[in-house]
Amino acid sequence: MQEKDIPAFLVTHRPNVFYLSGFTGTSGFLLVTLKEALLFTDFRYLQQAGAQAIGFEIIKVGSPAGYFGVAEQLASRGLKKLALEESHLNLREYNMLKEAVPDVELLPVYNFLEELRAVKDEQEVELIARACHVADEAWRDLLPQIKPGMSELEVAYELEYRLRKRGSEKLPFDIIVASGKRSALPHGVASAKIIKEKELVTVDFGATYGGYCSDMTRTFILGKPSEKQLEIYNLVLEAQKIAFGLVEAGQRCAGVDAAVRQYFQKYGYDSYFGHGLGHGVGLEVHELPTLSPKGQGVLREMMVFSIEPGIYIEKWGGVRIEDLVVLHPDGLQILTKSSKVFEL
Ligand code: ZN
Ligand code: ZN
Repeated sequence: MQEKDIPAFLVTHRPNVFYLSGFTGTSGFLLVTLKEALLFTDFRYLQQAGAQAIGFEIIKVGSPAGYFGVAEQLASRGLKKLALEESHLNLREYNMLKEAVPDVELLPVYNFLEELRAVKDEQEVELIARACHVADEAWRDLLPQIKPGMSELEVAYELEYRLRKRGSEKLPFDIIVASGKRSALPHGVASAKIIKEKELVTVDFGATYGGYCSDMTRTFILGKPSEKQLEIYNLVLEAQKIAFGLVEAGQRCAGVDAAVRQYFQKYGYDSYFGHGLGHGVGLEVHELPTLSPKGQGVLREMMVFSIEPGIYIEKWGGVRIEDLVVLHPDGLQILTKSSKVFEL
């Protein structure tokens, strides 16, 4: 904040509120100055805020968007400039804030805390590793149960049950189960479609542990794959290995993505890889860094991110393989450990 000449910062995005304060309530925001940290919340969360947000002054507000309290705090400190999270304040909230602090300069900032969150500490990596472990165990347990005739929804339900039973908190996202032609949909949330033999099936899912997410995708087939199915699967698997080999501190995020695209291009499949190679995972399932053609910056030690190449062919099907990795000072560690067996 000092570097960017920010005397006060209004933090409204829940993962960022939790990251800084430890507060898990669904209503509340922070006002951070260079010297002090304040948490505003309403009656329902006062006790909880006191217990969780150690070092924060807790201020009771009348309604969830009690920005008028902020005005008072800024005025009493003589602060005339307030940074806000431009991606996380809607127009109504922004207008309310403006009304509450008419004499204060509002300074929108982008990805300020998100950039800090991209680099994890040991404790955060441990929580993500545990979330990955929960997902691995659930997957290992489910795999032998998947049979032709089950619907995608049924597979998703059985998986969610196993994730929850092993201690996952709220799932980080709706489980993706996409079979047959639907596997060409990169984000094909489970449907009522019945899974048949010899169809590609893509399952993308995660667990949450201590607030931290995991993210993994496996693609398999019930029965013998065709030559083309096997070819595409092996291409994606090889692409992932190439990416693993390139991941190191200082490497450009867009560079790893480009290498995979070049590899697919050699076989004429680059246009079938329509999304980024990977994304950071932490308190949110999609966060920095961004490994895509548009990805900014470089990979740094203690970043946790996915490597998920895929090939999607309309009206035919698709394959994605996704693992979560941490870039340790001594190299890459793969956190998701589920086997990549293709033929079930
Ligand atoms: Zn995923
Ligand atoms: Zn992902």
